[in-house]
Amino acid sequence: MASLAEQLLKRNEAYIEHRHRPIPLFTDLGFTPKKMIFSCIDARIKPAELLGITDADEAVIVRTASGTPARNLIDIAAIDNLTTLTELIVIKHTDCGATYMTDDQIRAHIRTHNADVDGQVLKDYSVGTTHDIVERTRQDVKLIKNSPIIRKELRDTVSGLVFNITTGKLARIV
Ligand SMILES: [Zn+2]
Repeated sequence: MASLAEQLLKRNEAYIEHRHRPIPLFTDLGFTPKKMIFSCIDARIKPAELLGITDADEAVIVRTASGTPARNLIDIAAIDNLTTLTELIVIKHTDCGATYMTDDQIRAHIRTHNADVDGQVLKDYSVGTTHDIVERTRQDVKLIKNSPIIRKELRDTVSGLVFNITTGKLARIV
């Protein structure tokens, strides 16, 4: 069986032939997105489908482990520089993988497979593990609100939501 990457290259040939239409350039379209949504990389969570996000929302969905913006604050500043963002949203979900492990376990895993890794370097890595997803949502919103590299008016637009995978309810935490 070919790797998925090989299969994608193969599928792309058919895509070009039958489906692809040139994607508009920024200069034709105006610069988007205007909103940035952070959501978990969990494959069960399909934010656009579950939350009804469409192109009209002018939102980009950034998917990170646990939906934390911790490692992407510079991305917010970069996109804001290009498009002038109007809103930031952090969306987490119940039963998140981040509640099944700790940052220490992840560091131990890295050490097991990379014996020569610098402990000091490892300290800087966190994927937002937690046993309280609501509290972690508050903390991640605070990360944005307190970030010295994000424009002040933009920091103030951030909200924190939690999607309940059992009931389907999206609740505002912040
Ligand atoms: Zn998750």
